[in-house]
Amino acid sequence: MSTAGHRVGLIGLGAMGAPMAGHLYDANVLDVVGNRSSGKVLAFVAQHPGTRGAVGIEDFAPCEVVILNVSLDEDVLSNARDLSSVLKPGSIVIDHSTVSQQTALEAARVLNAKGIHFIDAPVSGGVEGSRNGKLSVMVGAAAEDLERVQSILETYGARVTHMGPVGSGQATKAVNQIMVAGINEAVSEALALGEALRLDPEKLIPTLMGGAASNWFLDKRGATMLRSEFTPGFKNAHMLKDLHIVQGMAAEVGLVLPTLNQAERDYTTLSVEQGDADTSSLITLKRKSEI
Ligand code: NAP
Repeated sequence: MSTAGHRVGLIGLGAMGAPMAGHLYDANVLDVVGNRSSGKVLAFVAQHPGTRGAVGIEDFAPCEVVILNVSLDEDVLSNARDLSSVLKPGSIVIDHSTVSQQTALEAARVLNAKGIHFIDAPVSGGVEGSRNGKLSVMVGAAAEDLERVQSILETYGARVTHMGPVGSGQATKAVNQIMVAGINEAVSEALALGEALRLDPEKLIPTLMGGAASNWFLDKRGATMLRSEFTPGFKNAHMLKDLHIVQGMAAEVGLVLPTLNQAERDYTTLSVEQGDADTSSLITLKRKSEI
């Protein structure tokens, strides 16, 4: 299916959303962009001629598809409420933010009441994945809704997987985030030990990447961690939000997950003073641990 004929809006021009909007622009389907702070809208429109910058929610009224990539659950819900008052019946809202399953279901309820369709489609692959168009997209949707937007998602998604009905995308992302948080714990502890043992970082990271310890976080963040550069990336405050969502889901099904709980304690500490730093700043806690 081609992207031809789609008229797409995007709200949330942050670390993940701005590169996605760039891919939609390159695919010639992007109509209008919006963001909480207006500076990002002005900058994007200046660099992407022909794109409209939204001043209010009514600027999205002509869109057949609106994509959200905002921060928190309330940001998704407020945009869903606002969009429900302007979009045409039959249009589709896709949310790429990481939020709870309950939020996805509530957004769907609000929009469906006006005949508007909703897809929860959280992503994994980091800012690099967004820039390179290599994201893994975890979709909760009616099959026919996904079919309508598959080609749009493929402008930045290397893998688009239909996990089930609305809410299934966020459930999958919760599983993903336990692994991400646990890998971050292991890599941070391992590199803190490597530093303490004075191993050569130029040799250490490629050696580890060549064996069974190889992983995305070590590959993309290992070298910058050892140089104590923590530019996001993925903010500590967003990781903490995700871990609280996952803890809620684990509690609902009666699972006790110690690695998840350790990560939640660590990102609570980090978020106090370094909420906007990258999650790889976790190594700063591991360097100091002396129990
Ligand atoms: P970010 O850089 O903080 O960007 C969020 C953007 O959304 C900001 O530009 C913000 O505007 C805008 N925004 C927030 N609330 C809004 C609202 N109510 N209405 C309109 N715009 C709003 O965050 P991000 O890293 O792109 O992450 C976005 C979402 O994707 C989060 O849920 C995050 O957990 C998830 N995610 C992130 C990554 C990653 O590696 N970064 C990976 C996968 C998933 P302002 O300019 O006013 O702040």
